[in-house]
Amino acid sequence: MSDKILVTRAVLPDINEYMQELREVWDSHWLTNMGPKHEMFRSHLKSYLNVEDIELFTNGHMALELTLQAFNLQGEVITTPFTFASTTHAIVRNGLEPVFCDIEPDNYTIDTSKIEELITDRTCAILPVHVYGNICKIEEIERIACKYGLKVIYDAAHAFGEYYNGKSIGSYGDASCFSFHATKVFNTIEGGATCYKGKELGSCLYELKNFGIHDAECVTAVGANAKMNEFCAAMGICNLRHIEDNIEKRKKVVNRYYENLKDIAGIYLNDFSKIERPNYAYFPIVIDEKIFGASRNEVCDKLLSKGIEPRKYFYPLTNSFSAFHKKYDIQKTPNALRVSKRVLTLPLYPDIQLDIVDRICELITKSVG
Ligand SMILES: *Cc1c(COP(=O)(O)O)cnc(C)c1O
Repeated sequence: MSDKILVTRAVLPDINEYMQELREVWDSHWLTNMGPKHEMFRSHLKSYLNVEDIELFTNGHMALELTLQAFNLQGEVITTPFTFASTTHAIVRNGLEPVFCDIEPDNYTIDTSKIEELITDRTCAILPVHVYGNICKIEEIERIACKYGLKVIYDAAHAFGEYYNGKSIGSYGDASCFSFHATKVFNTIEGGATCYKGKELGSCLYELKNFGIHDAECVTAVGANAKMNEFCAAMGICNLRHIEDNIEKRKKVVNRYYENLKDIAGIYLNDFSKIERPNYAYFPIVIDEKIFGASRNEVCDKLLSKGIEPRKYFYPLTNSFSAFHKKYDIQKTPNALRVSKRVLTLPLYPDIQLDIVDRICELITKSVG
């Protein structure tokens, strides 16, 4: 178990650095409910992300789910199926209906040329995903949203710290939601945040994460319990001090993968060069069996047999989940379907050894025949 190479490995600060924060938590006896660590982390994060305002949550999923609730939407939400379960579940758990749009074949984000044909008089919002940190076609999404009067809520779980046109990725849309899960590029153990504009939405999000409690005697909404506790906020304070270092280390790993795999026919690599301040969160490869000579599943099995655990992110598509009982026609999102059958996300974390990266690439090359 211990020497297996997994797709990711949680980033941790030095234990003494974390202990120093925890000592103050012990002294205060304030464990959760927007204590001093929560407030400090929120302020540090707001300036790191360079956004107008931000609300913290217990995880990225609740950030998404409660942000959708805050907009008080009804009807259909246009989204993509090439994502983590959370994106679709946040829609469905709000009593809204997901309408699945296909993705771009090269960067896996929503194909904006196919959005307008999906709009009906019941459409209320678009929920696009910056998949693997690849940025959606923001101007087109804005143009369509404006034309039809739709809200735009970005699932920015993969895009932590990235920029677009000189502005923080968190500043786009009516809101953008991040995840700080242990497996993400930046973690607070579990955690998430919504970047938003306007005091009114801010107080709504604040209340929704605390049961809808407005004050001691007034509960104004049917909220959830989705507050970030002090231990997670303390982890965030520590990990944020090292984020640039960690992204720099990830970049070296990505470059090594690139050197090894860039000239292999039938293996397509993610194009990080189009991203402003890329965070190098994932290293997906798309394998065309006909050209490469082995299928995604064969490559995956080969790696698994050698103690290396890549992941088939994102397979299966969310519109094919058995939870939905074949309600959605997956043939309507053919690019997503094709990519989900061919994609494999390779191990990537700041401290992975470069010779292990070389070995992984060698195993991939050798899985032919
Ligand atoms: C991780 C992730 C989420 C959910 O975040 P959690 O913090 O795990 O709840 C949502 N969307 C995408 C695309 C993700 O990768």
